[in-house]
Amino acid sequence: MKYLSLNQNSKSTLFNNAVKQGLARDRGLYFPETIPQLPKSFFDGIEKMNINDMAYRVIKPYVGNQILKDKLMEIVKETLDFEFPIIEITDNIAALELFQGPTLAFKDVGARFMARYLGHLNQDSKDEITVLVATSGDTGGAVANGFLGVKGVNVVILYPKGKVSEIQEKQLTTPGQNITSLEVDGVFDDCQEMVKTAFLDSALSSVNLTSANSINVARWLPQMFYFFIAYRALKSKNKRLVFSVPSGNFGNICAGIMGQQMGLPIDHFIASTNVNDAVPRYLETGTYDPLPTIQTISNAMDVGDPSNFVRIQKIFNHDIVKMKKALSGYRFTDQETRKALKEIYDLKGYIADPHGAVGYLGLKEYLAKQGKDQYGVFLETAHPVKFLDSVNKTLKLEVEIPERLKETLSKQKVSVPIKDYSELKAYLMN
Ligand SMILES: *Cc1c(COP(=O)(O)O)cnc(C)c1O
Repeated sequence: MKYLSLNQNSKSTLFNNAVKQGLARDRGLYFPETIPQLPKSFFDGIEKMNINDMAYRVIKPYVGNQILKDKLMEIVKETLDFEFPIIEITDNIAALELFQGPTLAFKDVGARFMARYLGHLNQDSKDEITVLVATSGDTGGAVANGFLGVKGVNVVILYPKGKVSEIQEKQLTTPGQNITSLEVDGVFDDCQEMVKTAFLDSALSSVNLTSANSINVARWLPQMFYFFIAYRALKSKNKRLVFSVPSGNFGNICAGIMGQQMGLPIDHFIASTNVNDAVPRYLETGTYDPLPTIQTISNAMDVGDPSNFVRIQKIFNHDIVKMKKALSGYRFTDQETRKALKEIYDLKGYIADPHGAVGYLGLKEYLAKQGKDQYGVFLETAHPVKFLDSVNKTLKLEVEIPERLKETLSKQKVSVPIKDYSELKAYLMN
């Protein structure tokens, strides 16, 4: 499989190189030259396959022969080494819990895959790789956890000062070893912009930089796995499946749409956002008009200008009519999100997190307008404990802190404050 840059000014490349580079030289995102198709027999027998074999077959055509089969299988197994429960909330709505991994958010899947893959690629190299990553909250912790102690790889995390939750901050500022956190005086989009600028900066060409954001194909594509896992689990319901994806940078939902393009029988996708609603507005007006980031209680979705939207446009050939057939978008305020947290709790005693609650709202709004034979799944993208303040206050209870988090919380935060790109550059040059 070859990867093209969506800016169309770079040569195509293979998976390993796309992973090592993160972003193409022309600053474009990599996208596979063709979308592989899975045969009907794959879906007919999917419930009899084990999850690792299934995931291997999904990712294999994207990787090609770039690493040995056994190694790829080992990486897939280690990536998916936790549960993905589906919790029924109503007759036709369920939550798909993606937060059972080590850092309690769905980003563990992509981060673990990428860390193991890159660690393997670089194991015999003398040159160290620096992974540069911007986080709105959860990516930093997942990437730090995935890459901790990986030989030959240093990780530099940029996060917006004062705009991540206490637990998120601890997860990304306490690992130590090969992980460094830079506390940026700005918002997430500033962090993301600095990362993109660093990739372009010829003065940094001696530093081997790559990205661990969902712009990196090794972080983005493994996210297809959960849509296949959910389909496999729900197939026997014989309903048309709809997925509502709480979206920020749109990597997760874009991976789901890729799965659908490979043949996965998904009826419809819903992009559920907070008030950072560039994509729902695009679907309404036909104009993509990103606005500055607004801070919300679902902070991992506080993204004004989602990077992966260009990939979604590519999938639908820039045809908004086609896109709207597959994808709807809804936006919700913090007040509506809090109400939804309460509603879900009252329905089933289920404690969602603010991102999952936004997903639930999008699903409800969509299903209300549709036929009866649909079954909706919203992705529960983070454990509610990661957003302790809003969840506890809204539901008037105390979410229990899992044992594995307590150790992280007891550690001392270590970060390097930076103000602008020149300070990032100076840090990387050293
Ligand atoms: C990152 C994140 C999102 C948004 O995912 P994207 O792939 O960036 O759209 C949603 N919820 C949580 C909890 C996250 O950490």
